[in-house]
Amino acid sequence: MKIIPKQHWHHLPISELLNLLETDSQQGLHPLEVENRQQRYGPNALTQKEGKSPVVIFLEQFNQPLIYILMAAGVITGLLREWVDMGVIFAVVLLNAIVGFVQEAKAVEAMEALAKTMQSEATVVRGGEKQRISADELVPGDLVFLQSGDKVPADLRLIQTRDLQIDESALTGESLPVEKESIDQLSSDIVLADRNNMAHSSTLVTYGTGTGVVVATGDKTEIGQINEMIASAEVLETPLTAQIEQFSLTLMKVILSIAALTFFAGLLRSQVVDRETLKEAFLEVVALAVGAVPEGLPVVVTITLAIGVSRMAKRQAIIRKLPAVETLGSTTVICSDKTGTLTQNAMTVQDIFAGDQDYQVSGIGYGLEGELTQQGIKADFNANYALKECLIAGLLCNDTRLVFKEQKWRVEGDPTEAALITSATKAGLSKETLEQELPRVDTLPFESQHQYMATLHQLAPDQPPIAYIKGSVEKILTRCHDGYSTQGEKIPLNADLIHAKVDEMAHQGLRVLAFARAEFPLDTFSITHESIESRLTFLGLQAMIDPARPEAIEAVKNCQRAGIQVKMITGDHIGTATAIGRKLGLNNSMGEVLTISGKEISEFTDEELIGVVDRVSVFARVAPEQKLRLVKALQARKNVVAMTGDGVNDAPALRQADIGTAMGITGTEVAKEAADMVLLDDNFATIRAAVEEGRRIYDNIIKSIIWLLPTNASLGLIIVVSSFFNLGMPVTPLHILWINTVAAVLLGTTLAFEVAEPGIMERPPRPPQMPLLQRSTVSRIILVGCILCVMAFAVYFLEKTNTATSQASAQTAAANAIVFGQIFLLFNCRSRRYTMFRVGAFSNRWLIAGVISMIIAQLLFTYTPIMNEIFTTAPIGVTEWALILGSSVGLYIFIELIKRGLRKQEKAKRANS
Ligand code: ADP
Ligand code: MG
Repeated sequence: MKIIPKQHWHHLPISELLNLLETDSQQGLHPLEVENRQQRYGPNALTQKEGKSPVVIFLEQFNQPLIYILMAAGVITGLLREWVDMGVIFAVVLLNAIVGFVQEAKAVEAMEALAKTMQSEATVVRGGEKQRISADELVPGDLVFLQSGDKVPADLRLIQTRDLQIDESALTGESLPVEKESIDQLSSDIVLADRNNMAHSSTLVTYGTGTGVVVATGDKTEIGQINEMIASAEVLETPLTAQIEQFSLTLMKVILSIAALTFFAGLLRSQVVDRETLKEAFLEVVALAVGAVPEGLPVVVTITLAIGVSRMAKRQAIIRKLPAVETLGSTTVICSDKTGTLTQNAMTVQDIFAGDQDYQVSGIGYGLEGELTQQGIKADFNANYALKECLIAGLLCNDTRLVFKEQKWRVEGDPTEAALITSATKAGLSKETLEQELPRVDTLPFESQHQYMATLHQLAPDQPPIAYIKGSVEKILTRCHDGYSTQGEKIPLNADLIHAKVDEMAHQGLRVLAFARAEFPLDTFSITHESIESRLTFLGLQAMIDPARPEAIEAVKNCQRAGIQVKMITGDHIGTATAIGRKLGLNNSMGEVLTISGKEISEFTDEELIGVVDRVSVFARVAPEQKLRLVKALQARKNVVAMTGDGVNDAPALRQADIGTAMGITGTEVAKEAADMVLLDDNFATIRAAVEEGRRIYDNIIKSIIWLLPTNASLGLIIVVSSFFNLGMPVTPLHILWINTVAAVLLGTTLAFEVAEPGIMERPPRPPQMPLLQRSTVSRIILVGCILCVMAFAVYFLEKTNTATSQASAQTAAANAIVFGQIFLLFNCRSRRYTMFRVGAFSNRWLIAGVISMIIAQLLFTYTPIMNEIFTTAPIGVTEWALILGSSVGLYIFIELIKRGLRKQEKAKRANS
């Protein structure tokens, strides 16, 4: 096939289109031809817009206020002809840039890896067979099926539609969904937004179904033409990083003001202002700026977030919107779907009720071993017309396939429907045979808001077509006016008996489906919701078990202990939902499972709903649209809400929720697009894991801060104090640079790898409005800063009084005192509550490696001639080391005592409440 030039595809008649693309509107492309075209057209993917080039990323590292100061300082030091100092300052600037560059590259890499896990799929017909493929394998000419919830995988010319509506906001900005129709030909000059017989790549199907032929893939699509679309990776930016950036900036302004003061104080102190004093005063200012500004802070936060995001991905939770990482830790309510998330979604029919008779089905799972019995005796479906029709309805009104793969029956489609195939097969019916005898002519697909599905079948041209309908009992029964006897005569409907049966089944936690049929006049080729509005004949009920996931039961318990309420939201029957809710432990302290139905929700005013929403733990027969109201009501009660969803109509609730959570397996593209997080395994336990991870990340950020800031405080204090009181400098500007860069890199980033604290899921959620730095934290930072400052001065003066030692070794000792103080402080900070032995002394290997490298670095700093030369350091002796280590250990113990006090306080508080 030749490459076809760009066309006015919407303008071509369908037959001409099919000719041009050499494809068939029933069979699709031949698999060989597909391969051919894949080679010619390449994958159906947008060329990633070039990310920032490494050079740009590197240069951006210099675009920070602190670096400006450093560079200015470097230049001035150069003008003062302090070549070594200048060299060190620029070396630090460079080092800082390299570290920032490496970290940013890593973060980007992590985000890109995440983006790759989120590829979308498409349903195509090739060689007459319907299959699900990765969307990037599509080629022009492919026949693609669309249904509500799909993301359109390429530009399609629609050849058949049914109530198709598409949200094209990604392309046209128009927020209302557009109705699409397979009109044969549109005039050629019509604008993109009005091309109703086209479906464009990346737009979202919000309603209905359709079939289209691929006319353009990858960059050739309309969306591919808008080339400013889709930046290569997300930036790591969250409210927290913004807050920290703001904080750093304010801090820097304060520090610069203090620096200016120090400068003039230094000048005033000395009577003569000559070059030497000017230089000294200036260097002090530089040292202050460098020492007191916590330049490592933003980096540490970014790194912690990036590591957290990839750890969550390993635990099957993909973060789509970064701020969710932070919010997760303060989640107070998780609203979860029932089917598939809290339960296994491995359905097996156990009970059947038809023709006023009860039947049991044996066997578990989708395996075909098992039989249909009545009171222990094998039953024959031929003896009961209603039963036979009920089983047939289950087989025909069904879009699912069971395939035997790798020693197991696997579901391709909906587990609820798979269970119906299994039950009918166990009874002795064959889906393939029936489908040949009664070919389907039309379908009303299942949609949550309708709660039923219907299909139309034609036995023979001279026979009236038959519709089979299955769905929720409520929806089916109101449409039925009679039923069948075992002999096949129409008899009046005994609705009370049926409802009693349903309640009995639901009470055991079974999911109940009702079945009905209707005959249509000859020459009916389609069904509509209206045509099955009232004239159905009831066939029977099939009740299936869907066991709760054991890990979900565990996770629910876990969440409740962690102060997180768990609520179940389901479209299922109120009885079934309550029974499952009880199995999952969703009862209150009185042992009751409080349940309300979607009907009640719709009757409540917003205020009334807000009034009850906290107490109720199960919401049954909820329409997806009502989820939005639930989220809002919960938020009105100051909750941080995580809400799951999978369908198109869940999208608004997912957007409104603090943590919209979409299902990775069963979720539609629309839901995923709206979500903050995607669960790869659809499992409730994964939400719990993500919350835990969120709490850990936040903990680690705080840990990094309470480790990092005291050093800055102490360095600032040392300079201010010594310059105001003229005490001589215990550390030189270069030492400060050393401490602030080498220690920050080797030690500072390791806390990001700290594991979760014991009991992390036993404390209440963090209030979302809680400031990053609480008053107690700030006082602790200042206190520790003072202690480090005192340590440095103490070691320095003890050395100074010892006449045998030089100024250089006194200063070296002081610098070592600060670094070793930092090392021990790092051990303190490994846990905010417990000693590091409680969290495992060696559980953080990065930290151990960091500490060892730092000690080696300090030894080099102190003992190698070259470092002695550059940093004007000098070797120190055993007594000095004893003093340094002794005071560091003292600091460690002191802080452990503070932590113990806090622990006691917390315990008392918990005992009181
Ligand atoms: P949930 O996922 O919370 O269990 P759904 O919205 O999927 O709820 O289902 C709601 C009700 O719709 C079910 O209780 C059942 O009666 C009916 N139903 C579910 N799946 C199907 C289906 N494939 N075809 C027909 N009816 C269905
Ligand atoms: Mg469902």
